[in-house]
Amino acid sequence: MSWRDLGAGELRPEQAGERHILAGWVARRRDHGGLVFIDLRDSTGVGQLVVNPERSPEAAKAAHDIRNEFVLRATGEVTARAPENVNPNIPTGAVEVQVDELEVVSTSPPLPFQLDEENVDETLRIRYRWLDLRRDKLQRNIRLRAQMVSIIRRTMEEAGFLDIETPILFKPTPEGARDFLVPSRLQPGKFFALPQSPQILKQLLVIAGFERYYQIARCFRDEDLRADRSHELTQLDVEMAFPDVELIIGLMETMVQRIWSEAIGVALEIPFERMTYADAMLRYGTDKPDLRFGLEIEDATELTRASEFKVFADAPAVRFIRVPQEYSRADLEKLEAYAKEWGAKGLAYIVYGADGEPRSPIAKFLSEQELSAFRADPGSTVLFGADEPDQVARVLGALRSRLGHELGLVDEEAFRWVWITDFPMFGWSEEDKGWSAVHHPFTRPAPESEAMLEKDPGRALAVAYDLVGNGEELGGGSVRIHESDLQAKVFDILRISPEQQRDRFGFLLDALKMGAPPHGGIAFGIDRLVMVLAREPNLRDTVAFPKNQAGFDPMSGAPSDVPKEQLDELGIQLEPQEEEPSGRDPTTRTPNGL
Ligand code: ASP
Repeated sequence: MSWRDLGAGELRPEQAGERHILAGWVARRRDHGGLVFIDLRDSTGVGQLVVNPERSPEAAKAAHDIRNEFVLRATGEVTARAPENVNPNIPTGAVEVQVDELEVVSTSPPLPFQLDEENVDETLRIRYRWLDLRRDKLQRNIRLRAQMVSIIRRTMEEAGFLDIETPILFKPTPEGARDFLVPSRLQPGKFFALPQSPQILKQLLVIAGFERYYQIARCFRDEDLRADRSHELTQLDVEMAFPDVELIIGLMETMVQRIWSEAIGVALEIPFERMTYADAMLRYGTDKPDLRFGLEIEDATELTRASEFKVFADAPAVRFIRVPQEYSRADLEKLEAYAKEWGAKGLAYIVYGADGEPRSPIAKFLSEQELSAFRADPGSTVLFGADEPDQVARVLGALRSRLGHELGLVDEEAFRWVWITDFPMFGWSEEDKGWSAVHHPFTRPAPESEAMLEKDPGRALAVAYDLVGNGEELGGGSVRIHESDLQAKVFDILRISPEQQRDRFGFLLDALKMGAPPHGGIAFGIDRLVMVLAREPNLRDTVAFPKNQAGFDPMSGAPSDVPKEQLDELGIQLEPQEEEPSGRDPTTRTPNGL
């Protein structure tokens, strides 16, 4: 027996008069006093069945009790719909199937939510994920994801990269997050760590002579969760010997261009724009600038050195944005409160009313020259940041992003890409009173920066590059250190003692001594790429089986208790949970989220 000989979404007028068997789910059932209309859904789409008691009393009897999401098998004749019943919005809308035989293959109790219901609680959706996944949006996201991975594999293989798996049970690999640990039964008291990325392993593969490696790799990072961050992520991981940064960048651009064109029919222009980290921080206040809108930050540090407004004159950096909106005092108070959340001490402003005159408590302190530099169109407001450069960047970057969205300046149709280059090697952590790696500890300093490593690590730049799309960090990579001594020096700067170096990374330092070629690579966050491709704001809806916002799986109940015998076997005794430990890894400054 064959379950079906035509997809519900494949019904077309040319088949009129033909007999077909269809099988699928009931998307909707409408009872029109005798006649029952059923929208039957399968992976090809939706088609209409008509059950007419005059044509088949048996089928009509069966149709009476069916409900949404029952599984049916129907045999009947394809007929043209009456002109007034044609639905031009769907490809099957001109025809229907007059049912002769109807079989209820599978039933369902009343559903916990309807598939077309909006705003269903996310935990409930994940609890019944098999139903949730039947929704159009999730079907689309998961299919786009599969298509994307297939294009990625094709692109990498065409360029001569070899797919090699690396272990999931491994040792800590620092990418800035906490590790997930797995106890070992055979080595009691010892733990594996799940990889935060295959970083060290891919370097070893290249050192081993696999000159072009790639993998669609699972990575595990125990971080606080957000809408765009989960504990498990999938990345395209790439490494090559004798690295050619232009080749890597060019290959990634071609890959993204192909994905956009094949998956959603959008032609992207390559090469993508490039911007240095310093420039991005200055103009956008972030290393992930969203270029879909302007509202650029401007610098007034030089101009205000001799300002009579002391706050400006004394600040290491003074910058401003011109916002095309005339704000009221109440609005400005709200914006100031927001700036303070980002660490600002206050928010200086100049409002230009319809008459074009500046209104501001600081205007009387500003020179002609200053006022003319801060001039803005009537009906706008200039907002200032005056503080340490990083702090000004943070505050104005946050304001820019908020106001860009609030004022509808973001071109929602656009896809804007930019490579950020020339990252600093290290960032200073006030909390830890020490340097940490901006990318990761294996990143190579730029040739001119090597000499600065010891004396002035804060000024050393790295050969590192990130790809940002619509304000999301989608990929990041670097050329690596391939000399054991240089690697040890960078570990020293990161305050990793020689003993810790041996214990944690001894195998890498050994390998770097045994004929390590220059190498470098990149990784792309596939989940984030799907978010941008599908315009999906929720990372969890880019994967089939996510945890909820609290990192819990309401479907299976994971993570769950384990029987005492299992813990005994592992030599583990549970203690009442104390305060959360602060196991942050000092080798990287910020979780870079990939
Ligand atoms: N290992 C890095 C990451 O996962 C990417 C890279 O440097 O290739 O973010």
